[in-house]
Amino acid sequence: MTNKILILPGDGIGQEVMIEVEKIIGWFNSNKDFNAEIEYGLVGGASYDADGVAISDATMQLAQKSDAVLFGAVGGPKWDDVAYEHRPEAGLLRLRKELDLFANLRPAICFSSLSDSSSLKKEIVEDLDILIVRELTGGVYFGEPRGIEELENGNRRGTNTQVYETWEIQRIAEVAFELARKRKNKVTSSEKRNVMESGLLWYEEVKKIHQEKYNDVELDHMLADNCGMQLVRWPKQFDVIVTDNLFGDMLSDVAAMLTGSLGMLPSASLGKAVNGLFESALYEPVHGSAPDISGQGIANPLASILSFSMALKYSFGRNKDSKLLEDSISKVLDDGSRTKDIADDGDFISTSEMGNKVIENLEILNKE
Ligand code: NAD
Repeated sequence: MTNKILILPGDGIGQEVMIEVEKIIGWFNSNKDFNAEIEYGLVGGASYDADGVAISDATMQLAQKSDAVLFGAVGGPKWDDVAYEHRPEAGLLRLRKELDLFANLRPAICFSSLSDSSSLKKEIVEDLDILIVRELTGGVYFGEPRGIEELENGNRRGTNTQVYETWEIQRIAEVAFELARKRKNKVTSSEKRNVMESGLLWYEEVKKIHQEKYNDVELDHMLADNCGMQLVRWPKQFDVIVTDNLFGDMLSDVAAMLTGSLGMLPSASLGKAVNGLFESALYEPVHGSAPDISGQGIANPLASILSFSMALKYSFGRNKDSKLLEDSISKVLDDGSRTKDIADDGDFISTSEMGNKVIENLEILNKE
């Protein structure tokens, strides 16, 4: 059986870091019978330059047929003035919408050798491993009515609507519970049920599905403002946090910064799961196209490589290979190899050297 992967490098450092991901896939093909078949496509500004759109229908078809999409980053000053519907981010939004990627996963993992880079004390973040599951296709970012209107009294009114239906809450809660079962078996559901009816519905539906199908998993409910506080006070109390689109947007950024650098943060956007594996999925680093360093060969490829590690786990069911890759990255960092963004003392290696170091360590750990 072949594993079909679509690589969309995008713009700026997206193109540089995805070269390193391809090397890693090549290693798993040669050493672990991964059997990946890779296709390539354009997205973002690169696609706009070639086809006049942020992603073409042909590339969308490739995405529909693939088991996993590996996405680099899009955007840059060159495309700042293109029409709103063709801006680079529109490619990503189309992928999310048409592949129905409703669950956004953002792990916050703090490798012990990087725990000094966090803005929090070492003991608070060292060996942290939590996962934020954010609902991605509903809530206040999509609810109707919305807009800005002129009022007769001369004021203007801005409106957005926070709206969730039970099926939307149920399916994201199921993803969180399923993932928790493969981790430390704990879910914290976060909303504002004290002041929002949609939050009360969220609370009731998560509780209900827990009782019906997942009562082996520990479940906590925490108001979203308290959750923000607890994340910076004692983040290790969490395992999986499940929350809506708006609170997830903020809480996942807070959690991200616990771990130090943007160059280290992976993410996954997942659709429906069948037999524990996600049928449509997109994996991408949290960072953007970094025009300030693009073309210099100094971008950190680890966020993208860690995103591929998530693909190994969630799209291909290869938990051992995912662990091997994460252990190799951990060893590279323990040995002191750093790209510029995570180097404290000024000594750093290039993007491609970092990719090579990961492969060297895959070789070593694979023989042990
Ligand atoms: P950015 O994430 O591109 O960069 C922010 C800072 O972090 C920069 O100083 C950059 O050099 C650094 N950085 C980011 N990734 C790094 C890496 N892997 N290694 C080393 N340093 C890294 O955010 P920005 O500057 O706000 O945005 C730049 C462009 O990227 C914009 O066009 C924005 O719209 C776009 N963007 C795209 C995505 C995406 O594709 N999903 C996400 C965020 C921003």
